[in-house]
Amino acid sequence: MNRQKIGPVEVIEGERGSRIPYSATLLIHGRDHSALIDCGAGHAALEAIRQAHAVKQIFLTHYHIDHTWGAYLFPEAEKQINPYDLGKVASLTELAKANGVYAVLGEEGAKAWVKKQEQSAQGGVASWKNCLGLIHSSYHFDQVMELAGEKVVMIHAPGHCEGFCCPYFPDYGILLVGDIDLTSFGPWYCNADSQIDLFIQSAKKTLEVEAKYYITSHQKGVVTKEEYTKRLEDYLGIIEKRDEKIKRAIKAGCSPKQLVYQDVFYYKKNHLESRQYMPFEQIGLAKHLKRLIHQGEPYVDYYQQFITEHHMFEEYIDYLAQE
Ligand SMILES: [Zn+2]
Repeated sequence: MNRQKIGPVEVIEGERGSRIPYSATLLIHGRDHSALIDCGAGHAALEAIRQAHAVKQIFLTHYHIDHTWGAYLFPEAEKQINPYDLGKVASLTELAKANGVYAVLGEEGAKAWVKKQEQSAQGGVASWKNCLGLIHSSYHFDQVMELAGEKVVMIHAPGHCEGFCCPYFPDYGILLVGDIDLTSFGPWYCNADSQIDLFIQSAKKTLEVEAKYYITSHQKGVVTKEEYTKRLEDYLGIIEKRDEKIKRAIKAGCSPKQLVYQDVFYYKKNHLESRQYMPFEQIGLAKHLKRLIHQGEPYVDYYQQFITEHHMFEEYIDYLAQE
């Protein structure tokens, strides 16, 4: 297990280099007790933490399963999540609306999805049930709070999803940028509650924070501000590359049906092997098409056809919960 300690904050790398469904967990060593930020490092890592530390508090940055699945391993800890996501970890129906199950399956299909999740066993890294009913309160955004006796500010950084935030430890210059993760895949905003423009805005906002250490949740780990600044530009540039790819495909006569196989987010071969990522490809593309229309591209009819061809439910593509 790769661990790196900066002041009282220890970065626990997730299994498989923190690749999804794993993510980095922060362990905050307090004087009297310890705390965690996110719970996705892996069963062995979390179990080792549980045995060696009195974890009394857990802050979850957002509801995504790769950050939250391990929360059930700490039944005695007080768990908090951001105010937008509190309803999603309490109700699979709310969760299904936010993550896009309603957008791709509609109400009937989503109800069946919820039922299937309810019947699944708790414990696995892919079980949405692991958090269900376990998180009862939310922290405040953008205020100085205490976590294991250390000052932390949960900076609201929507875009990846609406409640996404970046924990900041002002005394140590540490910022957990989480899923602004600098991976070669690029920014991920393929849920109904994701917004491309907000992702860009929030990512740029992270540069204004007085931080020395930028911690990503996946693969890249801890980077200096200099490296983060340099890499962030290329990373955000992937969004424009996706725009360009879509425009080129449409210009070359690609049908709305075939647009999902143009390697905009996932590779065509991955979609042919499994349906797992297709909902995210569809939602991501729908959001890009809307963004391009907004920029003046003549894609209104194309967008409508895309929705129809993929049997999507327009009213759920951009779904924002009530705080
Ligand atoms: Zn996420």
